[in-house]
Amino acid sequence: MAVAFAFHIRKGGNECEIALVGDISEHTRLDEVVSMLLRDGGPGKQITLDCGELRRLNSFGCRSWTQFLQEIGKHTKRVAIRRLTPTLVQQANMVTDFLGSAVVESYYAPYVCSRCDAEHLYLARGRQLPEELDCPGCRLRTMRFDGDASLYQTFLLSAPGDGRLRVLLVDDEGFSRSMFRLGLRTRFEIDVVEGYQQAVDAIRQREYDVVVSDYRMPGQHGGDLLGVAMRWLPSSLRILLTAFPPEDLEQLQQAGVIHAVMHKPASPAEVEARVREEIDRRGLGRARGDAPVRT
Ligand SMILES: [Zn+2]
Repeated sequence: MAVAFAFHIRKGGNECEIALVGDISEHTRLDEVVSMLLRDGGPGKQITLDCGELRRLNSFGCRSWTQFLQEIGKHTKRVAIRRLTPTLVQQANMVTDFLGSAVVESYYAPYVCSRCDAEHLYLARGRQLPEELDCPGCRLRTMRFDGDASLYQTFLLSAPGDGRLRVLLVDDEGFSRSMFRLGLRTRFEIDVVEGYQQAVDAIRQREYDVVVSDYRMPGQHGGDLLGVAMRWLPSSLRILLTAFPPEDLEQLQQAGVIHAVMHKPASPAEVEARVREEIDRRGLGRARGDAPVRT
C-alpha cells in the first residue's frame, strides 16, 4: 500500500535541508517542493535531501525524481543526499542518473547477525564499511554486511566527488589557511576555517571524513575541538597539528579523540600524505581505536 508523500523544509544559514517522507509516484507533486523552496529567498548554497523516511519510488516516480534533482540543482551550488535507504540504493544501482549530480553524504548498509539473524542498518559514509558490528542481541561482534558489499556500492562509482575525502582544517593563522586551501583544494573536498566556533558550526552542518586542527587557537584549544568532532562524527579521522605537543596528548589519544599528531609547520603535501596514510591504515567508518591494520 502506498504511503502518502510529504516533505519538510528546514533552512539554516547557507544550508537548506529537505526531509522527504513516503512514496513517490506519478501523482507526487515534486514541483511543489521546488516552488516552496524558491519562496523566501531561495535555498542558499547547499540543499541536503534527507531520504531516510523516503520509502519507494515507482518507475514513473523515478522519472519525476531525476527531473526534480535536475531542477533543484539549478538553484544551488551543491545538492547532497543523506540517509539513502537500501531500497533507494538498489534503485540508484539500476537506474542511470538516479542521483544526478548529487553527492551522497550517507547511506544505509544492511547488516545481519550470523548467530541470531538480527538485522541492522548501518549508516555509512564513503566506501569503507566495518567488517563486523556488535549484535545488540548476542552482544558479540557477529554482524556482517548482508550480501555483496561491492555490488551494493555500485552507485558510489558514478557519484560525483567519489574518492574525494571531505576534510575540515582549522587554523587561526591566515597565511596557513590560504596555503592549505590552495594546496589541498584539488586533492580533497576541503573547508578551511579559523577557529573553534566556526569549526563546530561546520561539523554540525557537514559530515567530514577528516578533521585536522591546530592546537593553539584563541578560546578553546584543538583538543576540545577534536572532542566535539569525535561526538558528532565518530567515524572521522582526527589529526592534531601542533608545534608543541600538549601535556594531555596521551590522554586525548587514549580516549580516541586524537588519532595522529603532526608537527607544525607542515606543508599541504605533508598533510595530504599523512591523511592518506592514516585513512589507509584505519579505514573510514570503522569503530574507532580497534580497527584492524589492513595488509
Ligand atoms: Zn545476534
